[in-house]
Amino acid sequence: LAQLFRPLDLLGMVYRTIRQGAIDMASMFALIDTAPDIADAPGAVPLHVTRGHVRFEDVRFGYDPDRAILRGLDIDVPAGTTLAIVGSSGAGKSTLARLLYRFYDVEGGRITIDGQDIATVTQASLRGAIGIVPQDTVLFNDTIGYNIAYGREGASDDEVVRAAQGAAIAGFIERQPDGYLTRVGERGLKLSGGEKQRVAIARTLLKNPPILILDEATSALDSRTEADILATLEAVERGRTTIVIAHRLSTVVHADQIMVLDAGMVAERGTHAELLRRGGLYAEMWARQAREREQALAAE
Ligand code: ADP
Ligand code: MG
Repeated sequence: LAQLFRPLDLLGMVYRTIRQGAIDMASMFALIDTAPDIADAPGAVPLHVTRGHVRFEDVRFGYDPDRAILRGLDIDVPAGTTLAIVGSSGAGKSTLARLLYRFYDVEGGRITIDGQDIATVTQASLRGAIGIVPQDTVLFNDTIGYNIAYGREGASDDEVVRAAQGAAIAGFIERQPDGYLTRVGERGLKLSGGEKQRVAIARTLLKNPPILILDEATSALDSRTEADILATLEAVERGRTTIVIAHRLSTVVHADQIMVLDAGMVAERGTHAELLRRGGLYAEMWARQAREREQALAAE
């Protein structure tokens, strides 16, 4: 396999480091409109992830002082488990993800990872520990190999290929005339929403973070592509602490716990079976989406 990207000289490394910051911002674009400056606390220390236990304790937050978005949110995601968050648009789901990534500071309560308040650790270490597969993946006008390798500085070609395999996009790449050197973006190969998403998943596999956020990661896909990618995502989630924000409930059935967020508060929580038995908001959403799925199938 040829070198996936040009050799790194010192300048290139600096450039990549700057771009690394840029992509983290860019990949958050779906999650965020404006990024206020959050500074490291004086004497901030690196986050030390031992297991990846994520907690929100009575978290309060609003973008404007006079409008609360999260009103005392408690979340406990034991290490290695998956929490799914569902709820109508505007409920505060993405806001919660932005707070965990510390794009904003909480106004009340705290967020901890393995017992460490995220406001007291360096942002670099915090963001290094969290992988995000956003709704809309931003690709560079560069090779597809570069776009995957981006997930981790210094990744070898073999590691890039393994990540592509894990994200079920290796076959697609190998079918391109230039393989991993195929250029993507404005002047190159146009990728579908599902293919871009797989690139994002491959990047995340390469980054190998202990904590994973999937923000409506399959919302842009048609139901067939979604079914395809779900198996991949389940593999990615294995062994990591995962927060899945989902619009389509078919993506959350297997979560260890499901939380229905409504107007910044937890309306219901439980497993899929528990929430169906309860016959509340979740059961209602499930029934509605099941009807929509049947209609979509009948229309095919
Ligand atoms: P969800 O992801 O559940 O659809 P969000 O967390 O994105 O909801 O948004 C929750 C609420 O916060 C919405 O009412 C939204 O309009 C508002 N909001 C989101 N981002 C901002 C922002 N940057 N500034 C002000 N209000 C915002
Ligand atoms: Mg959202």
